[in-house]
Amino acid sequence: MLKQSVCTYCGVGCDIEAVVQNNEIKQIKANKDGIVSEGKLCIKGKYGFDFTNHPNRLPPVKIKKSFLNKNELFLPKKLKSSLLEYSVDKGGYIYPTLELGYELVAWKLQRVLEAYGNFSFCAIGGARTSCENSYVFQKFTRKSVKSPHIDNCARVCHAPSLKGMRSIIGEGASTNPFWDIKNSEFLIIFGSNTTEAHPIVANKVISAVKNGTKLAVFDVRTIEIAKKADFNCVIPYESNLLVTNMIAYEIVKNELYDKEFVKSRTRGFEEYKEALLKDEYANPEFFQKVKGYEYLTEQIKEIAKLYATKKSMILWGLGVTEHIDGSYTTASFCNLSLLTANVGKNGAGLMPLRGQNNVQGTCDMGCLPYYDPDYKKPLVEGKKTPDLIDAMLEDEIKVLFNMGEDIAHIHPNQNKIQKALKKLELTVVMELFENEITKYADIVFGVKSGYEKSGVYINAERRLHLSQPLVENNLPDDWEVIQGIDRYFRQKIDFKDTKDIWEEVRKEASERFGGASYELLQKERLNGLQWPINESGDLPILHQKEFRTKDGLGHFKYKRYFLRGMVKELLKEKSEDFYLTTGRVIAHYNNANQTNKSPKLQKRASEDVVLVSLEDEEFVKNRQTITLVSNYGRSNPLKFKLSKNIKKGTLFVSFHHSNSNINFLFGDESDELTKTARFKSIKVKIE
Ligand code: SF4
Repeated sequence: MLKQSVCTYCGVGCDIEAVVQNNEIKQIKANKDGIVSEGKLCIKGKYGFDFTNHPNRLPPVKIKKSFLNKNELFLPKKLKSSLLEYSVDKGGYIYPTLELGYELVAWKLQRVLEAYGNFSFCAIGGARTSCENSYVFQKFTRKSVKSPHIDNCARVCHAPSLKGMRSIIGEGASTNPFWDIKNSEFLIIFGSNTTEAHPIVANKVISAVKNGTKLAVFDVRTIEIAKKADFNCVIPYESNLLVTNMIAYEIVKNELYDKEFVKSRTRGFEEYKEALLKDEYANPEFFQKVKGYEYLTEQIKEIAKLYATKKSMILWGLGVTEHIDGSYTTASFCNLSLLTANVGKNGAGLMPLRGQNNVQGTCDMGCLPYYDPDYKKPLVEGKKTPDLIDAMLEDEIKVLFNMGEDIAHIHPNQNKIQKALKKLELTVVMELFENEITKYADIVFGVKSGYEKSGVYINAERRLHLSQPLVENNLPDDWEVIQGIDRYFRQKIDFKDTKDIWEEVRKEASERFGGASYELLQKERLNGLQWPINESGDLPILHQKEFRTKDGLGHFKYKRYFLRGMVKELLKEKSEDFYLTTGRVIAHYNNANQTNKSPKLQKRASEDVVLVSLEDEEFVKNRQTITLVSNYGRSNPLKFKLSKNIKKGTLFVSFHHSNSNINFLFGDESDELTKTARFKSIKVKIE
């Protein structure tokens, strides 16, 4: 049997077709007419399905016996006697019925809230589950528990894109569809290792380049796609905003900007121009003083000219957002698009390449402390994840409800996080497999994966795909767990099925989803639809006539780069220690918890490996492994490879495998506006 659905991994959101026999996925491929896949999937999409029937899948519920012991004195008599009937396994868990699990969570939750107040509860979710689950997760937090503390994994990826883009053009989402890449005359890729992180987008870029589109790639190392580029711009760490301001400077100074567009569609240009031209760091000649990066002066000048005179797009990834000026840099991309009218039309636009398959949808559903569904302002703003961690340490947060976000692995400052998690009175986790966060959980619910349920997923180009179960199992979906708990708690959640939830989403988030009925999405299952969706259809290209700001205009805002880190050191010709950046490899996804169940993928990358510059060979000579050490922590010993694609004094490593302890190296430095961790730059020593 052939079943259509959507890939469960990255934000490209490829349409998939699965060959299913006897309730088992035998093969996953793509339909040649799929608008996203165009008939091709990357290796994760093709081979990453073995997790579905893996023997290590979590059971519907498991409870730590030590948690029961701690609460034994206070447990209601009937609940206690029912739970004590279950024998304890070697790991110290009991495996009761789901109903008993729900009742226990509700009982403990009620007790903690009575003692510490509703705001002692926080919910942190991933973005690999459906919109329906994300919607119910935030509804439970806000309406049932009455806590404002809801956040999702966008905190460690594209929250800065949302912030920066909304501040300039009123909408924090990709302006154009992926298929439009081929219509672009000039593409700039900034801080995105597209080949490894968003492979099917990389295919589209490469095929555009083959047809004559020019390409510039900015990164701190020579990445694969840069080998196909007209401009391979290897830049110093933390110089993204410096470079984008320079591109703007060249465009304004040489009057290459679109005067008519600036006049009719924007405001704030004169102040922006004044601040830009006055900024001593905005002139590309500055790079003449930065040892080893002098070539950037000429490259930036040429790129500015091309960007202004061609139909151009900017695509970016976490190499932009995971810095202290991530939001300002994404805003600077929008400024560039306003200057040159490279927005609101075919072949020109702005594309944040989002990480998880439903990170767009999870934010759209209001799983953010500062937005309700449809980006409405909530009555009370909650805390962002790093502030929640501090609040755990300060005994303000006592309950963590976690939906598929391994915060004990993929978030920064693990020494601190793991200390904070130990202080909680109740930790409830919904997951597919054991991972680092389940170790801290008092109660774990094993839930359905993306290939076992129905639901809406929204990819990085705002495209809604309605998934369907490829295989069946008896595990609950996330929303069923939440509703099950709420039945014993405050009874605010009452849905029949995912369609019922989606109907409420369509009312609560009508601006984007009013016209997106399940029937319509079912009809469009292969190609999906791009929000906003109303009675007249969807909208592939945003901002065609006006921006989604209150006055419909694009708002120029200038932010100066401030001198720091590697650039500052290079000016003094003094560079100590190494600058480390992190990223994905194609075979794995996030904490690798699903991809490492596939022998084909695991074989390709079974551990995290450090890339070291050939010029730095002396530091690793005669070594089998190296340990990275920062001011915050140490990695475990890691294998390394010498590479000509890495600049002297810099290092790269992936973070997929928890036993590498890569995220112990990072501290609290984060994007100034969103607190997204500065994962893309940390000074380390090699030991
Ligand atoms: S590019 Fe992303 S969405 Fe497409 S098949 Fe690969 S992992 Fe899946």
